[in-house]
Amino acid sequence: MKEWYEKIDAVERVSDLEAIRIGIFGKKGVLAAEFAKMKEAPNEQKAAIAKALNSHKSDLSVRIREKKELLQLHELEAAMQAEALDVTLYSTTSQSGSLHPVMETMDRIVEYFSAMNFAVHTGPMIEDDFHNFEALNLPKYHPARDMQDTFYFHDEMLLRTHTSPVQIRTMLNSKPPIRMIAPGAVFRRDYDLTHTPMFHQVEGLLVDEAGRVSFANLKFILEDFLHHMFGDVAVRFRPSFFPFTEPSAEVDISCIFCEGSGCRVCSKTGWLEVLGCGIVDANVFDAVGYKDVSGYAFGLGVERFAMLIHRIGDLRSLFEGDIRLLEQFR
Ligand SMILES: [Zn+2]
Repeated sequence: MKEWYEKIDAVERVSDLEAIRIGIFGKKGVLAAEFAKMKEAPNEQKAAIAKALNSHKSDLSVRIREKKELLQLHELEAAMQAEALDVTLYSTTSQSGSLHPVMETMDRIVEYFSAMNFAVHTGPMIEDDFHNFEALNLPKYHPARDMQDTFYFHDEMLLRTHTSPVQIRTMLNSKPPIRMIAPGAVFRRDYDLTHTPMFHQVEGLLVDEAGRVSFANLKFILEDFLHHMFGDVAVRFRPSFFPFTEPSAEVDISCIFCEGSGCRVCSKTGWLEVLGCGIVDANVFDAVGYKDVSGYAFGLGVERFAMLIHRIGDLRSLFEGDIRLLEQFR
């Protein structure tokens, strides 16, 4: 029987091992033959022979099982190695990707304010009524809520309509002074040439001791920022209304397409609206428990900036996932 143990040890393939198993345990196998021979042995030896054969039977069976597991493992490893792909291999047909124009514009905006020492904060996209409206001086039934068509969930949660709730969360969690921007996706029920249900905002907030923040500070940084983004443009501030700032202003730049002489993009006015801003309303500070502070806030739509910078006519084309759009920005 010894040679069968050696055969099992020497075998290198699962299929060869199966042949050996049949050679041992098959109907015409060695064990069947040995048991048959036993019948011719003297009666007093039969018990000992049977015991020895049964012992071989169980030992060989264990050895075959263990060897089979080992061989299967080796074969699996070999197969995996043979199929491995070298993902670093250079291909002549490979194309480099590019940043989406919206993300690239967002990066530029964030870079500017980071350089001006504004911290970057983010928050949840699913918000509650308090952070998205109430704390921003927009109590229930306030008519200004109609300015923002909101996506609601059944449990009174909603998709944030602006990144302002991030500012509320930051103020609730830290003490002034604050110097921050909140970039991110926001959601409103809107869909046309210049509106998509999801778009991106960057909102900024600066809070310091009462009397230390003025509209002049706000004007300075926004003018500098707009020159950084659009180059040598004229900037003007127009009085406006936002629930969370008082006084409020909308900010225009001279039209970058017609240089102020009037064209289709600027509706013949020579100006393009790009920002909203103002001095933070006292009610907002009350909602977060801030006392004796002053601050300014501003907000902008990243897609609007990207469309102006890259002269994209239809906002919706930015989100259709057409690779040909991206290829233009490589
Ligand atoms: Zn124009």
